[in-house]
Amino acid sequence: MLARTPRRIAVSTFKAVRGMNDILPDRTPLWQRLEDTARVVLLSYGYEEIRLPILEQTVLFERSIGEATDIVEKEMYTFTDRNGDSLSLRPEGTAGTVRAVLQHNLFRNQAQRLWYMGPMFRRERPQKGRYRQFYQIGAEAFGMPGPDIDAELIILTRRLWHLLGLRGLRLEINTLGTATTRVRFRHDVVSYFSANAEKLDEESRRRLQSNPLRILDSKAPELRELIQGAPTFERYVDPESGKHFRQLRGILEHNDIEYQVNPRLVRGLDYYSKTVFEWLTTELGAQGAVCGGGRYDGLVEHFGGEPTPAVGFAIGMDRLIELLSETPQNDLARGGNEPHLYLIVGGDKHYGSAMRLAESVREAIPQIRLVTHCGSDSFKSQFKQADKSGARIALLLGEDEIARGLVTVKHLRISSGQITVAQSELIAYLQKEFASLCAPR
Ligand code: AMP
Repeated sequence: MLARTPRRIAVSTFKAVRGMNDILPDRTPLWQRLEDTARVVLLSYGYEEIRLPILEQTVLFERSIGEATDIVEKEMYTFTDRNGDSLSLRPEGTAGTVRAVLQHNLFRNQAQRLWYMGPMFRRERPQKGRYRQFYQIGAEAFGMPGPDIDAELIILTRRLWHLLGLRGLRLEINTLGTATTRVRFRHDVVSYFSANAEKLDEESRRRLQSNPLRILDSKAPELRELIQGAPTFERYVDPESGKHFRQLRGILEHNDIEYQVNPRLVRGLDYYSKTVFEWLTTELGAQGAVCGGGRYDGLVEHFGGEPTPAVGFAIGMDRLIELLSETPQNDLARGGNEPHLYLIVGGDKHYGSAMRLAESVREAIPQIRLVTHCGSDSFKSQFKQADKSGARIALLLGEDEIARGLVTVKHLRISSGQITVAQSELIAYLQKEFASLCAPR
């Protein structure tokens, strides 16, 4: 027994953590549609799902994403576990995928195509399209060194946009060469920015020491001109990476995929090599990237595995949802999970019969969505709630109906009045009606 009644806490005391959003029922149908479509598309290219923990050892991200990146330096949610381990909420999915694939020896000298979906955590400054808990769909392909698989990933994302009805996404691609060629490039970039150090902002000056290539990625308007004058990678590309890139472009062109080569596309994470790409939209303001990907041939070996080529992408689901909900013809943006039927119950004596009737309907028509009213409210109030629920048909089980083995059926969205149906014939009646119940409104 409680010694004391706990003090009531005002509702307003609790709010979701800043940058972490509730996804409410009016939006979940859209999320489900995105998730279902992505599953179908990924499976149709032979990608298999992997589900990973949300917490990993902090060192996993430090070693893969890079200690001198924004994510590791200042955006991870890190804490010390009771046994002294440093753990972090995952800020992205690639590191965990590589860890799992190595831990469970999934490579065994064969190609692997994997995908995952779920929340990621970065302590960024929240704004539209940028959150601290956000969701990604990612794909990672291991063991394939050529440009064909890079192209496949891009073609796959195009198919997803197409099936979702998203138009107007723009593709940018670039090559980062190999780690060795980047050393020369990095040297020249450092010389260039060091010579212009007085024009850099504080953040870029810091990066000049830790991760100078990231300065090229800076979106600060006052640095635009300076960055435009910086060396571009083209001149440094090694012959093998150059050939890989030309072949990738050829495959994309052969498949009618429009793209722009953006020599400034470096992407945030340290482990990329050769191909990098990004899908962008102009419709979301500053947060225009909806998908980013690229090749990371060195990471598996870096984690202690056999040298294994790898390439992947991550799609920002929150941003796709924003885009989808702005598409006017997207009726799912306004719901889509409303019940088909709402069962109105005439008094507490009949709860047992009502539940039993509802179960028999669900058993016979598994796709049907039937809400049984719970609570001893008046018929008037139950009808109001039936109407509000969006259901198309109200079923009424009152004193009279029970006595005579009937159900009253009232169409709520058309003025065809109401009829009574024998309970024994209700399922046959609903089966006939079901197609029209499911038709778009
Ligand atoms: P990244 O893992 O940084 O390559 O990001 C891949 C994609 O995830 C981006 O193109 C965005 O669409 C999305 N994304 C990254 N960070 C965030 C964030 N903080 N909030 C919402 N979406 C994000």
